[in-house]
Amino acid sequence: MQLPGEFLDSLIGVKGFEKEAFEKVHATGEQVTSIRINSSKPVTKLANQLINQLTKIPWSEFGYYLKQRPSFTFDPLFHAGCYYVQEASSMFLEQALKQTVDLSRPLKVLDLCAAPGGKSTLIQSLISGESLLVSNEVIRSRANILKSNIIKWGCNNVVVTNNDPRDFLQLENYFDVIVVDAPCSGSGLFRRDEDAMEEWSPDNVALCSQRQQRILADVWPALKKNGVLIYSTCSYSKEEDEEILDWMVGELSIVNCQLSIDPLWGITETQSDCGAYGYRCWPDKVKGEGFFLACFKKTGGEESSVFKTKNKKEVVNKKEMTVLENWVKNAGQQFIKHETTVYAWPGHLVTAYNFLLNHLRVIYSGTIIGELMRDKLVPDHALAMSELVKEGINGTELNFEQAIEYLKKKELKMDKKNMGWQLVTYKGQNLGWANVLPNRINNYYPKELRILKDN
Ligand code: SAM
Repeated sequence: MQLPGEFLDSLIGVKGFEKEAFEKVHATGEQVTSIRINSSKPVTKLANQLINQLTKIPWSEFGYYLKQRPSFTFDPLFHAGCYYVQEASSMFLEQALKQTVDLSRPLKVLDLCAAPGGKSTLIQSLISGESLLVSNEVIRSRANILKSNIIKWGCNNVVVTNNDPRDFLQLENYFDVIVVDAPCSGSGLFRRDEDAMEEWSPDNVALCSQRQQRILADVWPALKKNGVLIYSTCSYSKEEDEEILDWMVGELSIVNCQLSIDPLWGITETQSDCGAYGYRCWPDKVKGEGFFLACFKKTGGEESSVFKTKNKKEVVNKKEMTVLENWVKNAGQQFIKHETTVYAWPGHLVTAYNFLLNHLRVIYSGTIIGELMRDKLVPDHALAMSELVKEGINGTELNFEQAIEYLKKKELKMDKKNMGWQLVTYKGQNLGWANVLPNRINNYYPKELRILKDN
């Protein structure tokens, strides 16, 4: 792997950059693989077995290094949302949130550049159930991938939106926390992605830097007074890192937050020209890829605004509720209808969800329960993934081969112990739905998620 000379020259003088060690770590071809366990899935026993063989990522409660990269595609537990495959350095966001935000409070959090969902699933695991996460992605195709990953994570307090940062201007002083994991020149991922190296140029770095400023300026009004903004990139270029911090301090009413880091982690604390602290992960010092992060508190704006909103959605009626009760734990939920589709929204977030529906392009909210067809429910995949699914629903445990066939959406060969709807499980984890009919078994795994490769 030959790193571009112009790129290496541009890093001279940046704190923590040691050319020889940096080149060496890129030349080895070593790949670091890490996952983050989904603490809300009932994986404790499983996780314990797995975790004994894994090494902990020191800055993340649920993050672990794997010894080698397995085939995640052929691990049913990956499809069950038991863990997320996430780059280790980027889990440092956890420290930023824990050290700057009181996570026990009910918060409104925006993850502005969220696809495919690594940071969003991490944020969701850290905030309380009373809190709301708006997970936004401007590119529609990527927003759909984000939506799938949020569904797989099985949470109910997330709204997925597909908006331009500019659209958040309408939500002045709304969020307690905004995370901007900005689109960047991507040099931090050179070890993994040689294409990123070919696309690297000083012009592209300059372009990314301008775009980062534009994104930050657009979303800034949506942050409350005393709210926290976390900015990150996977670029090593100071134009996208420390120089952005200088721009922020110059343009916005903001104070920078210093984080405390354990020297054993190998993370480098840097200071921009104006003295703002940032945190760099260099792959020759940290077991992970290149990453940069900085935190700020907003000193201007208002603490809160009054947001009036109209209820846009129809609530299910009593008769429909009796159907739903067979499928869903209903405590604390409000069930709303969009045509025949039923969603569960957390009761305490109904006003917020309606408000967001009135102002943003919402592509997913809460949990889809299913389609109401007269007095029957066709359950949705999201319900199978969710902790809202009622205990005691008929289930069929599959072995590994059957689970892979199910995930390929092939015809199912399993015991017909019970007729009708079944939760299909593997090692006790829900994979999705099947409907057992007298003459066949219908596989309800979503077509767009099915495994296409052969193992
Ligand atoms: N946070 C994500 C995660 O942890 O999985 C990764 C985000 S990636 C670094 C940056 C994201 O910004 C991409 O999904 C990209 O589509 C999006 N993006 C691209 N241009 C953008 C723009 N002008 N405004 C906001 N987001 C943009």
